[in-house]
Amino acid sequence: MSKAVLIDTTKCIGCRACQVACKSWNDLKGERTVFSETWSNPRFLSSNEYNRIIFREIDRPDGQVSWHFISRRCMHCNDPACASVCPVGALEKMKEGPVVYDDGKCIGCRYCMMACPFQIPKFEWGSAVPLIRKCTFCAERQALGLAPSCVTTCPTGTLLFGERPQLLKEAYRRIGSEPKKYYPQVYGEKTAGGTSTLYLTAVSLEDLGLTRVGFRTDLGDVPQGIYGRAWMSKVPFVAVAVGGLCVGLHYLHKRRAEIKAEERKEG
Ligand code: SF4
Ligand code: SF4
Ligand code: SF4
Repeated sequence: MSKAVLIDTTKCIGCRACQVACKSWNDLKGERTVFSETWSNPRFLSSNEYNRIIFREIDRPDGQVSWHFISRRCMHCNDPACASVCPVGALEKMKEGPVVYDDGKCIGCRYCMMACPFQIPKFEWGSAVPLIRKCTFCAERQALGLAPSCVTTCPTGTLLFGERPQLLKEAYRRIGSEPKKYYPQVYGEKTAGGTSTLYLTAVSLEDLGLTRVGFRTDLGDVPQGIYGRAWMSKVPFVAVAVGGLCVGLHYLHKRRAEIKAEERKEG
């Protein structure tokens, strides 16, 4: 069975304990970060930030203001685009749920960064031997029978870890029992062919302004790996590998500027 995490954003108080737990468990170094215009901090995911809480303030029809806090992290897609384009199999969807990365295999081509529709994989720009970094769904903890670090730390039960079918059942039970509290959709159930990160929200992702920061709603139900495999089947491996290495330096500079521009849109 495949594990997933249900993120019920209506329960989140924005304490960011999950951010700290993630950094602690993954031994990610501290870095100077800044607040966004919406008080999110850090304002981007990076090779040192696998999970961040996005803050949103919404004007309600009754004239009141409501706050919403949303964890942004890897979706752990059922058919991940990142893995579908990796020429050396450094990214892999495990049957248990996590999409894991083997840095021993990675050749640094960064095709995964371009392929991911959610803009999740990040590159260690400052490293002499740069690698890809992203949320691991704490696969090594799961292998020991433990829940992900963020889940065990959350004080409000926002993060629920379990078998994906059971979590979907629970999500729809919550929507059914409190229809005024929830937007009637589970983001990730079918998105991009389904994901192991599932979201419940109070209002739509569009109304939360999340579609412009990586929460895509234009992908439909199509598994994104289909596109990656179709593209890779037309490109000989040698061309992919050598090409990836040759364009490395040029791409590094170009992509760094593009990603900085993309990140400036986050908030
Ligand atoms: S969200 Fe992106 S990085 Fe994460 S599994 Fe899906 S395609 Fe890969
Ligand atoms: S599952 Fe693990 S790596 Fe992913 S956000 Fe939670 S603590 Fe971080
Ligand atoms: S630890 Fe839980 S309540 Fe606190 S920010 Fe993370 S998901 Fe929200």
